Amino acid sequence: MTQLLWLRTDLRTSDNTALAAAMAAGPTVALYLVTPGQWLAHDDAPCKVDFWLRNLAELSTQLRALNVPLLIREVDDWQAVPEALLKLCRELGVQGVHYNEEYGVNEQRRDRAVAARLDTHDVRVRSYLDQLLFAPGSVLTQSGGYFKVFSQFRKQCLARLSVSLPYCVHLPAAQAPMSIASDPVPSAVAGFPRPTDYLRALWPAGEAFAQRRLATFVEDDLSDYHQRRDFPAEPGTSQLSAYLAAGVISIRQCLHAALGYNQGELDSGSTGATTWVNELLWREFYKHILEGYPRVSMHRAFRSETDALPWRRAPYELEAWQQGRTGFPIIDAAMRQLQETGWMHNRLRMVVAMFLSKNLLIDWREGERWFMRHLVDGDLAANNGGWQWSASTGTDSVPYFRLFNPISQSQRFDPDGQFLRRWLPELQHLSKRDVHNPSAHRSLFGVTEYPAPIVDLSATRARALDAFRNLPEAAS
Ligand code: FAD
Repeated sequence: MTQLLWLRTDLRTSDNTALAAAMAAGPTVALYLVTPGQWLAHDDAPCKVDFWLRNLAELSTQLRALNVPLLIREVDDWQAVPEALLKLCRELGVQGVHYNEEYGVNEQRRDRAVAARLDTHDVRVRSYLDQLLFAPGSVLTQSGGYFKVFSQFRKQCLARLSVSLPYCVHLPAAQAPMSIASDPVPSAVAGFPRPTDYLRALWPAGEAFAQRRLATFVEDDLSDYHQRRDFPAEPGTSQLSAYLAAGVISIRQCLHAALGYNQGELDSGSTGATTWVNELLWREFYKHILEGYPRVSMHRAFRSETDALPWRRAPYELEAWQQGRTGFPIIDAAMRQLQETGWMHNRLRMVVAMFLSKNLLIDWREGERWFMRHLVDGDLAANNGGWQWSASTGTDSVPYFRLFNPISQSQRFDPDGQFLRRWLPELQHLSKRDVHNPSAHRSLFGVTEYPAPIVDLSATRARALDAFRNLPEAAS
């Protein structure tokens, strides 16, 4: 009765629903598929692929303690997955395949094709809810549709959680040793260059590390999370996104850690804890959006009418944005943070996304792709949701005229210029008043090596508002 555990974005042993179910059903072998062509097609960042492989190596050790061998197979893309799985099932005499659900159109097509192929050979396929607190399609409006507005979705989630909390599954006991050897985990995959040692050191691999990061965050930072979370110079957020995206830690573990700190209260008690739970629910919301409105995972706008916006082709401005040479320090510092660390602070993700999609009027899909190619936490649902929210093509309930001014955002959220100076050493010598807008003081301070602003903020703001206003259907 051999069982196969197909690992995907759930690279952990603790609280892993599919692992526990597979081991309860019989002797289990784990499988991970390396699919470089698919990863390239999905714009998965080299630093993220490296992070997956490093976590897989750690996971292999954890699985060994459970006597679960880990096999690694390579196929170029997901089209080849059904045959690869069938071949392995036949070789090993597998009777059941177990995996945790993933969301997105391509993911679901792949999983349906696998189930259909294996079914013809009497291999039973079982999938499990694991990445989310609630199955998509189970949190609906009164008329039975998916929520479009976060606040309403959140309310319903909190009401459900207050009645019953999803529990963490127990780590299974070790099974009897099997006569199958684990494969070595590759340290690199062609097409995905190795990131710098600096970047790798920021994101240590393994579930033990992720648990420590969660515990330290809860102990040291959760109480004033709501006050510090918007200041990019402060280590005020958990930095767990890469671990959540790769499934090195589970959403249930995060929720229980916050509730444990907050005496079980979901929506009262510590404001830090309730604000953090709110962020976990944003993650939940965007995955439900991906399922409820599949067009968003096919490069289409959530608000269809905004597909008619007159996006500009402006390669010079796009490149200036990508390379952190726009002449707006907060944009440039954020874009350099992204390239060097594989991560960007949430406030800055919104600021740079609005700058690209509104001030530069460049298609949000360009920014979405650039982010995916560089983020260690790149996640289709959160990235697409964040981009569309910022570009006013998505679920933001505020009308299209929400447009952050990068200079005032900089003054408000990095008042001393500490973050700016960390990433823009060329502005090191400027005072905390001047550092946010060096062009205003160019002649005075001789800042020659830093570029002049590539656009005029008020003129480009007016252009963006016009573009939205002139859409065939009102976009508000
Ligand atoms: P914390 O503040 O500690 O939050 C805890 C967790 O909640 C995060 O790890 C994350 O899993 C989740 N979360 C927090 N905020 C959001 C949010 N707005 N949307 C969805 N989930 C959230 N997040 C990703 O995980 N992957 C992405 O590819 C991604 N792309 C984004 C693109 C844009 C344009 C924007 C505006 C946001 C994006 N986010 C993305 C959301 C958010 O910026 C990151 O989750 C957050 O910065 C991660 O840092 P943290 O782990 O310290 O977060």
